[in-house]
Amino acid sequence: MTAVNFVIVGFGGMGSYHEKNLMPTEKEKINLIGVYDILEERQEVAHEKGLFTYESFEAVLADEKVDAVLIAVPNDLHKSMSIAALKAGKHVVCEKPATLNTAEFDEILAVAADTGNRFMVHQNRRWDPDFLMVRNLYQNKPIGSVFQIESRVNGANGIPGDWRHLKKHGGGMLLDWGIHLLDQILWLVDSPIKDVKVDFSYILGDEVDDGFTSFITFENGVKALVEVGTTNYVKLPRWYVKATEGTARIDDWDLSGEMVRAVQTANESMPQPIQAGVGLTKTMAPPSEDATEELALPEATAEYDTFYSNVYHVIRDGAQPIVKNTEVRNVLLLIEQMFEEDK
Ligand code: NAD
Repeated sequence: MTAVNFVIVGFGGMGSYHEKNLMPTEKEKINLIGVYDILEERQEVAHEKGLFTYESFEAVLADEKVDAVLIAVPNDLHKSMSIAALKAGKHVVCEKPATLNTAEFDEILAVAADTGNRFMVHQNRRWDPDFLMVRNLYQNKPIGSVFQIESRVNGANGIPGDWRHLKKHGGGMLLDWGIHLLDQILWLVDSPIKDVKVDFSYILGDEVDDGFTSFITFENGVKALVEVGTTNYVKLPRWYVKATEGTARIDDWDLSGEMVRAVQTANESMPQPIQAGVGLTKTMAPPSEDATEELALPEATAEYDTFYSNVYHVIRDGAQPIVKNTEVRNVLLLIEQMFEEDK
């Protein structure tokens, strides 16, 4: 087994997360041999960690020891740096969003095809335990067939950092968090999209969106609400899933939540009316105890390889990438449609 020699380009928040948390999980397969960041202070941080630092991006590309680069720079630089690396004979792992639109993405893929080098995108949230729970629900149907999914991330800290506030850098929340949530939903549902509606939020006064709410209807009938908010001082649940025989709620990344399934006797056992505000209701009363049962939320296991192990096998053995470029392109196309609707 010959490990893949990687260099991290862009040693900011995410570049350093790859170094500290992701690459070390596959020590045998991924060998981090150096770092390059345009900022001296980030080079210094890398140096203090005992990492080799390159003087320039060109120096990274000129080093024959380098098999692959991780591109973890602001979004607008992904295209030019990925293309330069592919042309220099390197494989590329690029942070999300791969590019700002499909035209840029196609340019990268054309160079990857010409050079025979691999281009892969870090859509890491396919491995998130909360997503894996929903995937389990969708595929194994413990509460029947899923027909409605609400996927939200709600923060109250506004848009973080500097470049994320600017359009020219590919800022805004649709390209930041939105791309994660849309990648999850499109990969999960695996049916063509029939209809999309989106409402962007510009509450913070930035030139880019600080959040959005979207409604997606798939041709197989499944409906999804996908929402990102950065001005939510009170959060809604991370996931709310309705299926033909029950409902599940996953509150947060701590995987707390609840899942309830209707039991056979549901129709025979009518709920008792309750006081609701200044009125009375049977419709909105909790179901009677014998009509439902509480189930444990499903397992959160991925039956697929880890991200970096897959990267290794793609590069060394010609394996199929878990995050396929056709899928990445479909998400970018959906994002394009959403921006188009905002004009
Ligand atoms: P950041 O601002 O913290 O880091 C970006 C780094 O790139 C900075 O250190 C900056 O100096 C460096 N840089 C800028 N121009 C450069 C150049 N020409 N050459 C070399 N280095 C350069 O931003 P971040 O949060 O780390 O985001 C970086 C990328 O990672 C973005 O594309 C972002 O969308 C992505 N990201 C992904 C996840 C995820 O979960 N997959 C999470 C956070 C960020």
